[in-house]
Amino acid sequence: MAFTAFRCCDKTLAMENSISILGNEILPGERRTINFNIAKLYTSTIVEIPIIVERSSRPGPVVLITAGIHGDEINGVEIVRQLIQKKINRPTKGTIICIPVLNVFGFLSMDRNFPDGRDLNRIFPGTKNGSLASRFAYQFVNEILPDIDICLDFHTGGASRFNTSQIRIDPRNKKDLILAEVFNAPFILESKIIDKSYRATCSKMNKTTLLFEGGKSEFIDRGVAKEGVQGTIRVLHHLKMLSKKVEIPTPTKPSIIITDSRWIRAKYSGMFHPHVAHGTFVEKGQVIAAITDPYGKTNYKMKVSNSGYIININESPIVYQGDAVFHISTSYKDSNTSSNEEA
Ligand SMILES: [Zn+2]
Repeated sequence: MAFTAFRCCDKTLAMENSISILGNEILPGERRTINFNIAKLYTSTIVEIPIIVERSSRPGPVVLITAGIHGDEINGVEIVRQLIQKKINRPTKGTIICIPVLNVFGFLSMDRNFPDGRDLNRIFPGTKNGSLASRFAYQFVNEILPDIDICLDFHTGGASRFNTSQIRIDPRNKKDLILAEVFNAPFILESKIIDKSYRATCSKMNKTTLLFEGGKSEFIDRGVAKEGVQGTIRVLHHLKMLSKKVEIPTPTKPSIIITDSRWIRAKYSGMFHPHVAHGTFVEKGQVIAAITDPYGKTNYKMKVSNSGYIININESPIVYQGDAVFHISTSYKDSNTSSNEEA
C-alpha cells in the first residue's frame, strides 16, 4: 500500500488522513475503485458494486454520491454516470465517492427491491446476519458511511409516477436546507424521514443529506438528469471542491419550498388523460385531467380542490379508482419568504 513507503512519523500522519472503505485505507491524492462484493448470484456469478473514490491531496469534506438504492430508478444512475464521465467527481480538495448503482441485483432485473424481496431503503441500518438486503445495509453503514460528511442520494418516482425534480429534506436540519437551496432544484420538499430509510440512518449519524427525486423508474429523462448534474455541481462548487475549469450553472430562480402536500386520487377507473405538465401551478377549480372509458361514452373532468404546484403526475394511461394520480402542494413558500397556504 502507498503509505508503507513513508517514514514512521509520516506514516502515522498519512494514516490519520486516510479514509477507510470496506477495510481499504485510501490516502489523500489517491484515486481508486473498490469493489463491494456482498453475495454471488445463484449461478455463482460474482456481483461487484464499484465504489469510485477520488481524493485530492488537499483536506476537505468527504462527499458520497449514490444512486440505484432502488434498482429500477435508472435516472439517478444516469446522473451519477454523467458526473463521473464529465470528471466532476475529481475534487481539488476533499474526497468524492461515487456509487452509481447500489442495488446491482435490482438493476439487473429492473426491480426496485433486492432479490430477497426487501426494499433496501426500508431496512437501514441493517443487521449483520439478517436478510441479504439487511446484510448489505449493515456493511454499507459500518464500512462506508463512517468517514462521510455529506450524502447526495438520487431517486425517481416509482412505477409510472413522474416526479418534478425536487430535493427532500428534514426541515429541522438547517444544514440540509442550506445545501438544498444551493442545489437549486425547482422544488424543495420538506418531508418526514421514513423509519429505517437510508436518510434516517444518515440523519442519526449526523450527516448532511440531500435526497433528490426526479423522473420515473425505468426511464431516463434528459431534463431531469441535467437538473441533477447541475445541482450537484452547484453543491460541490459551494463546498469549494471543484476546479476552476468546471463551468458553474447559474441558478435561474430560487427553489420553491413545499412545506405540505397531498396526493390526489382518481375518483373513477378508466383511461387517464392529464391536462397539465408537472411542475406547473394550478388554480383551485381548474380541470387538470380527464378520465374516460374506452368506448367514447364517459368523460369525467377532474377538477382540483386547491391551488398549488403539481410535483408528480401519474403517467399511466390506465388508472383504477383510488390510484394516486397527482401530487400537489398544499402549502409552500419561496426561499426566505413567508408561506402560502391553501386548504
Ligand atoms: Zn427510490
